[in-house]
Amino acid sequence: MAAEFDFIVVGGGSAGAVIASRLSEDPACQVALIEAGDRPPEISSLPIAPAAMQLNPTTDWMYTADPGKAGLGLNGGRMPVPRGKMLGGSSGINYMVYVRGHPGDFDAWAEGGAAGWSYADVLPYFRKSEGLAPSDEIVVDTPAHNSTGPLGVSVRAPVLPAAQQFVEAAVAAGIPRGDYNGRDRGGAAGFVSLTQTTTRGGKRSSTYVAFLAGEPESRSNLTIITGAQVRRILFKGQTGQITATGVEYRTAAGETVVAHAAKEVILSAGAIGSPHLLLLSGIGPRQEVEALGVSCLVDSPHVGKHLRDHLMCPLVYPAPGIGVPATEIGLSMGPDALRAPAGPLPADHAQDAKLSPELQTLKQEAERRLAEWQATGRGLAASSLVDAVVFCSTGLGDLHSHDTEIMCFVTGANDDFMRLILNVDTARFFDDVSKRLAPDAENLVLLANPVLPHSQGEITLASADPSVHPTIRMNYFDDPHDMKVMVAAIRRSLDIAAHWPGNRKLGQLMVPPFLAEKHDYEPGAKPSDALLEDFALHFSLTVYHPTSTCRIGDVVDPRLRVRGVAQLRVADASVMPNVISGNTNAPSIMIGEKAAEMIAAEHGVKLAEFVGERSASHH
Ligand SMILES: Cc1cc2nc3c(=O)[nH]c(=O)nc-3n(C[C@H](O)[C@H](O)[C@H](O)COP(=O)(O)OP(=O)(O)OC[C@H]3O[C@@H](n4cnc5c(N)ncnc54)[C@H](O)[C@@H]3O)c2cc1C
Repeated sequence: MAAEFDFIVVGGGSAGAVIASRLSEDPACQVALIEAGDRPPEISSLPIAPAAMQLNPTTDWMYTADPGKAGLGLNGGRMPVPRGKMLGGSSGINYMVYVRGHPGDFDAWAEGGAAGWSYADVLPYFRKSEGLAPSDEIVVDTPAHNSTGPLGVSVRAPVLPAAQQFVEAAVAAGIPRGDYNGRDRGGAAGFVSLTQTTTRGGKRSSTYVAFLAGEPESRSNLTIITGAQVRRILFKGQTGQITATGVEYRTAAGETVVAHAAKEVILSAGAIGSPHLLLLSGIGPRQEVEALGVSCLVDSPHVGKHLRDHLMCPLVYPAPGIGVPATEIGLSMGPDALRAPAGPLPADHAQDAKLSPELQTLKQEAERRLAEWQATGRGLAASSLVDAVVFCSTGLGDLHSHDTEIMCFVTGANDDFMRLILNVDTARFFDDVSKRLAPDAENLVLLANPVLPHSQGEITLASADPSVHPTIRMNYFDDPHDMKVMVAAIRRSLDIAAHWPGNRKLGQLMVPPFLAEKHDYEPGAKPSDALLEDFALHFSLTVYHPTSTCRIGDVVDPRLRVRGVAQLRVADASVMPNVISGNTNAPSIMIGEKAAEMIAAEHGVKLAEFVGERSASHH
């Protein structure tokens, strides 16, 4: 007999872990959380190591996308699209930048028809999650924050000099310091700040750590099923009266299992996973799903459409005495990161007895750093290397918000990272890869990132077989507006670089030689728009922020109920009516908090606290 629950949450990521945790606060409420991945590996807690969980099929879904007009300088022209596969989801592998969005982003959602999602409506849910550690290093708009919530938010310690210098450079370029998560994100000039990160005591605060680990996961009314990929949603009833009754999932051992939900199924499988599951279950554009042999239960033309994502152009600078070299990063990750094939230590620990004195010293230093981080939460290991950020406007439109983000990545990392993780054709990007990306090279990268793209991509079924990835078309730069903002965002970044403080200056921007030649670019000269456009078309990279594929208004109503189906909701980044002007983890967590209260209010579930819903009988 199939297991029976009140609620089944599909996907334990940024939103899903929150929903399962909150609903199970009521001991009378039976909740199942079904997650394709497992608990996060130990390395997930180490902020410097996000890349170690990519390209690993146990922790990453390993999607790739058609990048539209972009991606000309990527190997094979494909854009890797990592997604976390674990309890905590992408919050377990992300770069931990904690950004809520501009108040105007949410007000635009509400004005567009998403009733209940204005900034005033969503602020209580951001506050509900947050446990901000006090810091003298940043400006904090205290009323917008909370220091007692489960999600650790902090500024890493100690502050890296490169990040501090970026803040000073931005100030010199006319961008004031401020709280980019405050109630006011400044006018067109915007704000610069050291990054608020989802960390506590120097360790990653994923939604697994914050909302499930410890007491919640031991609740007898919360059943967490890991290693279980949901393959389709189950329904009863005829056209016009279709009701979700449960899900079918495949265990790691290959067994097919059914679970029933007496009250609701909640899809929190993310901006790729949730539309994929709807399409596999026959909820989507009729012609598209039927063409693949899936019978269409609800013709819902917008499922998988309106995909938004952020694209950033990496501006790499030689930064002697400023940038963090790859050797330092390797050392801070502990001795295992230095083992063969990538590192100098032997793959087999047993061989360590025969290490040369130099390698023995190297190993001891790596052990010392890791132990120090474990004990104190401090050191380079506590940084995701994205330690300072600017939000501002180019003035080209979208004046209700900021259309530009500039992140400071305080390292150029190494060839493996650029070539394998980011898929950049480094032989074309750099004039001399072995020198530019040498293990001890000190580089710094400014990431110019237009955050309100007008182009829209899509996710479509590639097969009726749930184990086959859906097709992801990003359509980057489809709308010419996006390139104009990109060029302006790059110019703003170049201006910040030109204002670098102190005696140590950044070197010349590394312009790929084939582009320099094509556009008659002389080192140190002002690059033309045509050069910057070409640069962006070749080497822009996803910032890993897909959203809006089941957006409110089209696929779900403002209470996140799937149109045309009873007892089925979607709650994750896919419901955003538009991508917010910043990184998308915090708003996904907010969506989880708000969804939990809406569901609880409608079903009489007694949460420990309601911060937004008027009463438990609200409909
Ligand atoms: C490498 C990387 C870096 C990033 N950096 C940042 C950053 O620094 N700051 C920031 O704000 N944002 C960042 N993001 C984005 C942010 O993490 C995501 O927007 C956010 O986590 C999305 O939350 P979600 O709940 O929609 O989806 P996810 O957190 O991805 O959760 C979806 C969950 O559903 C599970 N799932 C999917 N399909 C199924 C299925 N069929 N059956 C069972 N389970 C399923 C997945 O395994 C996953 O656990 C980054 C993302 C990545 C990948």
